[in-house]
Amino acid sequence: MTRRLNVVDLTGRVAVVTGGAQGIGLAVARRLLSSGAGVAIWDIDQAAMTGALAELAPLGRVEALLCDQSQIEAVDRAAIETERALGPVDLLVNNAGIAGPAATVVDYDPAAWRQIVDIDLNGVFYCCRRLVPGMIARNYGRIVNVASVAGKEGNPNAAAYSAAKAGVLALTKSLGKELAGHDIAVNALTPSPARTRILEQLTEAQVTYMLGKVPRGRFVEVEEAAAMVAFMLSDENSFTTGATFDLSGGRATY
Ligand code: NAD
Repeated sequence: MTRRLNVVDLTGRVAVVTGGAQGIGLAVARRLLSSGAGVAIWDIDQAAMTGALAELAPLGRVEALLCDQSQIEAVDRAAIETERALGPVDLLVNNAGIAGPAATVVDYDPAAWRQIVDIDLNGVFYCCRRLVPGMIARNYGRIVNVASVAGKEGNPNAAAYSAAKAGVLALTKSLGKELAGHDIAVNALTPSPARTRILEQLTEAQVTYMLGKVPRGRFVEVEEAAAMVAFMLSDENSFTTGATFDLSGGRATY
């Protein structure tokens, strides 16, 4: 049967999508632009950003900014440039992330561990600490933190990633409570595997393991993730905060 898709109205909103140059982030940026928002994508991959900008520019007001979100000063600079180009930021999608190398905890390279936590967890904190004050001042905001089912269950040979994503879930709960007195919703998304470039960082055995746990028996499409994010960022989502939106195809029911 043909699917009927709702289009949320984000006219006049300004969004930041980290890691927006490809994969889930690019699908989110596409969807937000189509819903009327101005969008800034922040990413470290210049080549992918050039391609993304060419695709996104015809859809609306879009900025592409180089930003390594593990660097606090880079986040502050990207925020200033975004505000200058598009105006105050209403919507934040903390989506950028890496998976890192596969290894057991005992064998994990400490430098790789720190890099994963710096990007996947600390970067989310840096983006929130810079953009939330403006949301509080305007008493409006929507934040989506893209975590992972790994953060709920812990995946073998991916402890750094799992721990960082668990941290993102806890950050989401804390920030949601801190901002609950405002019209600011902070929620997390926990996708199961999607066919994006991040999978190249995993072994075939890891992908097979993860996909085997998905009752729907397939990858989630990036457009399916984007549709849920668009709802989470919309005014339709006016009450739920500090929560985790499950996108695991039936894997995680808690
Ligand atoms: P992807 O590799 O296609 O996209 C990730 C983007 O983040 C890339 O454009 C990359 O350049 C960018 N990035 C990496 N490090 C960065 C940094 N330091 N600063 C700024 N940008 C940086 O992967 P994806 O699947 O689209 O991943 C998006 C999010 O979804 C990630 O947080 C990932 O952990 C999460 N996720 C993905 C899957 C999956 O199977 N694809 C499953 C669950 C969760």
